[in-house]
Amino acid sequence: MDTGLQLYNTLTRKKEIFEPLNAPHVGMYVCGPTVYSDVHLGNCRTFISFDLIFRYLTYSGYKVRYVRNITDAGHLEGDRDEGDDKFAKRAKLEQLEPMEIVQKYTLGFHDVLRMFNTLPPSIEPTATGHIIEQIEMIKEIISNGYAYEANGTVYFDVEKYSKEYNYTILTNRNMEDMLANTRELGGQDEKRGRLDFALWIKAKPETLMRWASPWGEGFPGWHIECSAMSAKYLGEEFDIHGGGMDLAATHHTNEIAQSEACSHKQPAKYWMHTNMLTVNGTRMSKTLGNGFLPEELFKGDHVLLEKGFSPMTVKFFMLQAHYRSTLDFSNEALDASEKGFKRLMNAISLMDKLSVSENSDFEVGPIMDNCVKAMNDDFNSPVVIAELFEAVRMINTVYDGKGTISAAELDKLKKLMKDFVFDIFGLKAEDTSNLELNSVLDMVIELRKTAKENKDYATSDKIRLGLQSMGIQLKDSKEGTTWNKA
Ligand code: AMP
Ligand code: ZN
Repeated sequence: MDTGLQLYNTLTRKKEIFEPLNAPHVGMYVCGPTVYSDVHLGNCRTFISFDLIFRYLTYSGYKVRYVRNITDAGHLEGDRDEGDDKFAKRAKLEQLEPMEIVQKYTLGFHDVLRMFNTLPPSIEPTATGHIIEQIEMIKEIISNGYAYEANGTVYFDVEKYSKEYNYTILTNRNMEDMLANTRELGGQDEKRGRLDFALWIKAKPETLMRWASPWGEGFPGWHIECSAMSAKYLGEEFDIHGGGMDLAATHHTNEIAQSEACSHKQPAKYWMHTNMLTVNGTRMSKTLGNGFLPEELFKGDHVLLEKGFSPMTVKFFMLQAHYRSTLDFSNEALDASEKGFKRLMNAISLMDKLSVSENSDFEVGPIMDNCVKAMNDDFNSPVVIAELFEAVRMINTVYDGKGTISAAELDKLKKLMKDFVFDIFGLKAEDTSNLELNSVLDMVIELRKTAKENKDYATSDKIRLGLQSMGIQLKDSKEGTTWNKA
């Protein structure tokens, strides 16, 4: 089955023709969120990118099994087996059980992705639900001689492994440089080599999330869950493994090592990495604290934001960049996306109002071909958007009576929009009346504030009472004025 799709493979550092191992079936594994706090917009970019990929593969006729995990245990703060457990730390802070933290932020994650109209994966396995599979895999790696136990903790022996395999196959880094540049961190007195990483970590007396294992009570290291769960649901060899670019150097490098040390197979044929959402050029991240939450973006409730933007505007903004390019957040760029998205949706709503003619001044076929070609070229959504605006121009020209379109071409236009805007991009029309009301009320509240400052109480009262008669209640407090609908 050749659909003409080419994708960039991090493993080979080039674009390749996509040839699934077992077409029309495609197995795709994407590293999901660590659910110890709200997902920020950067995380969303990665999941929106893979949603686009999932949707396009499906559109192209593949039967995709899309597995996206939930990391709900075993993630320490540092990438090298050091620091506190992220869940335990948060649980202490919020005075909740670690599993309450997991539940709370998993629900939040799902809510946010639903707002962005992304499709759910086929399977969403959790690390805590697959402790047995992880233990089995660690046992196999030990018996193959690539891991060792030290005082209740099990480490992967990178030096031993790299005698037979290429540990840095994914990023092509030089092992000598890596060794020279790696600080000794967690478990340094137990590790045989500086690059060794934990597969299983011994529980401390205060550790809350702990499980019994052949090495005593403990919890799995972060990397083993993805190797164990991808093998379980997609097999030892599958088609696509994805995640954000920040995961390639450590998490995915270690995943490949674990899988090869267990089954002697490189797990994924294609490794795909999405680029980062940045703020003023710096990667948005939970740890750096420069990330804003989708909620804040929708409401405009953040110092970096001039106003709120709707979920579909934000999604459109993301699709306007290729998934392998960085995307820098700015109010101006989002403003432009808002206008662009409105223009697109407005044209779509005009399609039903167009009158058709015998002759057509326009041909939709080439646009459709260009859109398919662009998506087949490593999912090039910005090129598709440029083509869609060609279609918008056609619609507006016919609507303004400056051109004609035939019934057959109009049908093609409708199919183009349905396929690319709704099915592949996963955009949808949205009711923006609340957002608009928000901006109008912000302005009215500002006018009332000025009136009060000028001691023009007649005007300020008129505003308050006028809104009240429309069912909008203003509430003044030290922080300012808020409103709610009665
Ligand atoms: P985490 O919850 O930190 O494990 O991250 C979940 C996913 O979001 C991973 O695939 C990360 O690579 C990705 N990610 C984290 N920060 C960003 C960012 N600023 N832009 C795009 N993706 C990101
Ligand atoms: Zn992973």
